[in-house]
Amino acid sequence: MEEKCPYCGSCHVKRNGRSGNGKQRRLCLACGRSFVKETHTVFASRKLGEEKFRMLIALIIRDATVETISECLGVLSKTAYVWRMKLYGCFAGYQKSLVLKGKVWIDETMFPVSGGKICFGEGGRKLRGASRNQTVVCAGIDRGWHRIAFVAGRGHISSARCLEVYGPHVERGSELVHDGTFSHDRLVKEKGLKGTTCKSTVKSFRPLMKPIDDFCAMIKRNKVIHMGGMDDYLQNYLDWITFKPCLRSLKMDEKIRKVEAYCFHSRVVFRVKDRYCGIMQQHFGKIIEYF
Ligand SMILES: [Zn+2]
Repeated sequence: MEEKCPYCGSCHVKRNGRSGNGKQRRLCLACGRSFVKETHTVFASRKLGEEKFRMLIALIIRDATVETISECLGVLSKTAYVWRMKLYGCFAGYQKSLVLKGKVWIDETMFPVSGGKICFGEGGRKLRGASRNQTVVCAGIDRGWHRIAFVAGRGHISSARCLEVYGPHVERGSELVHDGTFSHDRLVKEKGLKGTTCKSTVKSFRPLMKPIDDFCAMIKRNKVIHMGGMDDYLQNYLDWITFKPCLRSLKMDEKIRKVEAYCFHSRVVFRVKDRYCGIMQQHFGKIIEYF
């Protein structure tokens, strides 16, 4: 881990004894502030011991439910829940520069929106019927284990929205395998893609869509397990699952290290109660009941 001052970025730092809980403290010679390795990272608020915390990360990697984590580690459900939220939050930037290439599959998958909300589509028009209560996720994969998944809005998405969401993440000239939805046409045209259409109504074409079908099914399954009816941090969850292929074929301790390193370097810092105050108040009781 590089020794840079988290306040001013200077490398002129020196060791400066230990903090109350035994962590190596450093002093910045440029700005005069002292810090520990975790300062200005998501780990700054960690109270669990090192071993327990590593187990917590392992369980999150294995997609354990909040209830499982709470039971295995003897921590409050709320603690397990909050840490999962925090870790997911560190991966917010992960997909931004991801570009699928070669043979690329895309598809949209719909989630029912949890009750009670008034739903507006693009341009603020009120959505009607079935589409009104659906959140659309645009998903894509390629053969190189790259995956993308973005919340794209409510109801069916337009050609413009489709281009906006997928466009930056599909390399020009790639082959695009899709279900022939008309809103994909503009994407195919403007990115110079070679479109291969597999209509869901034609049975024999369905195997061609299997890779993306499997990915969408996985998103759906885990979404239900992890969030119940909670949509507010669906994107955070999607960011996390697009990162997960990076961990494949690693041993668990290497996976934990990689996740920790990513979180450190992401420099994402937030207190759950700041970012999700409303959500915690509104949903937390409900979420716990669900599990
Ligand atoms: Zn400094």
